[in-house]
Amino acid sequence: MQGLEVDPDGRVRFTLSLADADRIRAEALLQQAKAAAEAVEGVTAVSAVATSHAAQPASPPAPAARGGHDNPFGLGRKPRQDQGDALGDVKAVIAVASGKGGVGKSTVAANIAVAFARAGFKTGFLDADIYGPSAPTIFGVSEKAQTEDDKIQPLSAHGVSIMSIGFLVDPEQALAWRGPMVMGALKQLMRDVAWGPLDILIVDTPPGTGDAHLSLVQSKRLTGAVVVSTPQEMALADVRRGVQLFRKTDIQVLGVIENMAWLQAANGEKTFLFGKGGAERAAAELDAPFLGALPIMPELRQASDDGAPLAGQDHPAAEEFARLAAKIAEAIAL
Ligand code: ADP
Repeated sequence: MQGLEVDPDGRVRFTLSLADADRIRAEALLQQAKAAAEAVEGVTAVSAVATSHAAQPASPPAPAARGGHDNPFGLGRKPRQDQGDALGDVKAVIAVASGKGGVGKSTVAANIAVAFARAGFKTGFLDADIYGPSAPTIFGVSEKAQTEDDKIQPLSAHGVSIMSIGFLVDPEQALAWRGPMVMGALKQLMRDVAWGPLDILIVDTPPGTGDAHLSLVQSKRLTGAVVVSTPQEMALADVRRGVQLFRKTDIQVLGVIENMAWLQAANGEKTFLFGKGGAERAAAELDAPFLGALPIMPELRQASDDGAPLAGQDHPAAEEFARLAAKIAEAIAL
């Protein structure tokens, strides 16, 4: 049993971590464990999942005994202490961050990756959002990743090599993970993916600042960071948080991108729904470069839902993303 939590309303969550041999009985064991928890006085709801490393879609299946916090994907060897060695052939690693969720960080990160690939750079995209992976949807990839020689093979779409927790485990399974498992999973995504030679790896980090950012910074492989924000007054606080996180850890802030900056009518008139230029002002106040602003584009949302990034299409937005990629490339002298 892992991650047992009880909230003040009597809601219980836990993960039943099963040995390989118990896999076949997983559902029955889970129901028994849930029933036992429900029978406890004061318990109002029970949410539980069963995990077994051999049951994970990543292949070949690995024995559960090989798993653990440092090896949540159960790769078939002892975890190495050194991190980031699989990134040996990766020239630059860029984190894309935001103060909060829903500002379009993943959309912008993915489209910038496609723009880099389109410009001829060997590009990778690491979706580091363990609790809410969006790369499978945005890139339109539904396959599961395979492992070969104890390395997870990235999937490829729109010219980009992509890895996401969504290619490795079922979403509910990762949701049950707590801090150490999340850190372990991220380390493996940094260390045990066969990225091969890349000019640039874009890392889409979870919203806010937490374990994932810590893990990335500790990997000592970040070349720089880009902060995405919307233009509201609130954005100032968000941008400041993002910028300060990276500055505190001596990671260069390559710049701020303002997303959903305005809505353009058919006659060209712009409506600044969320106020005007908040992120740009925040960048100026924090002395961080301002990389550019993107309008609200219903086609961008549609393209993300369809798994066909606009940056790879014949669309004016593709030029915007190409410009942003070029600015980032220039900032890191790629
Ligand atoms: P985050 O990664 O910050 O949580 P997402 O990239 O998931 O945000 O974006 C949230 C939603 O907003 C998605 O439905 C996405 O397609 C949409 N979106 C992002 N940027 C834009 C934009 N410029 N115009 C229209 N929709 C956008």
